[in-house]
Amino acid sequence: MKPLEGKTAVVTGAAQGIGRAICLRLAEDGANIAGVDVAQDVLEETGAMVREKGVQFLGLQADVSRFDQMREAVAKVAQTFESIDIMVNNAGITRDNFLIRMSEEEWDRVLAINLKGVFNGIKAVARTMTKQRSGRIVNIASVVGMTGNVGQANYSASKAGVIGLTKTAAKELAKRNVTVNAVAPGFIVTPMTDHLSEEAREAALSSIPVGCFGQSEDVAAVVAFLARTDAAYVTGEVIRVDGGMAM
Ligand code: NAP
Repeated sequence: MKPLEGKTAVVTGAAQGIGRAICLRLAEDGANIAGVDVAQDVLEETGAMVREKGVQFLGLQADVSRFDQMREAVAKVAQTFESIDIMVNNAGITRDNFLIRMSEEEWDRVLAINLKGVFNGIKAVARTMTKQRSGRIVNIASVVGMTGNVGQANYSASKAGVIGLTKTAAKELAKRNVTVNAVAPGFIVTPMTDHLSEEAREAALSSIPVGCFGQSEDVAAVVAFLARTDAAYVTGEVIRVDGGMAM
């Protein structure tokens, strides 16, 4: 039997990049997938790939920064599947700028999606998971939430917030057998990092001990471990997937 057979996983930011890889990995492990994203057409590409693995896929268009949209999306998941066992809060954006030039809009948008979006995702599933007395919540943070990064005041603050939120949620939900953990990727090859200059990529590469960039599948493998029943004694943890970049 596959480790996640019969489980249902909600994954935000599922249309591409790390979110898509998480959907595919959890599907390979047997879970039905509900993918949430703003980009409905691209989300359907993920859906087709997930269904090829022999599980069900429900595509939901929602903006994670909107509390009501997330609540409605998760309600549809509950109507479609028997339970909600795994919630992966992955959707995130960057709006990089030096602090001195950063606009209020750049700050607000990144915090709304990256931090409030995780709060909205946790809120949307917490009651169902505590009632069923089981659940796995995995939040995608970033190593820059631990180290800071030039040009990313908004992004690093949002990811540091995700780490604090993860630990508090882990403490509050632990007695109901709901674990809450964070995965902190380093430099992963996705559309998010594609637009970076050659100079920025070279600088990043020189700071990675294993000597190469990470792949979305590297992150998905750790999420899949945290989602398993036998990861029950791991909670409030932040696992770096960064080739040693931030050690
Ligand atoms: P990505 O390729 O840009 O994918 C992110 C996905 O989230 C996109 O499909 C995007 O849709 C969607 N999204 C954006 N805003 C949303 C919203 N408000 N509601 C719902 N979906 C939304 O990014 P990625 O590299 O896979 O990153 C995934 C997560 O990993 C993020 O939280 C990111 O911060 C984190 N991370 C990435 C790296 C890295 O090196 N790639 C490193 C550390 C952490 P649109 O394309 O339509 O906006």
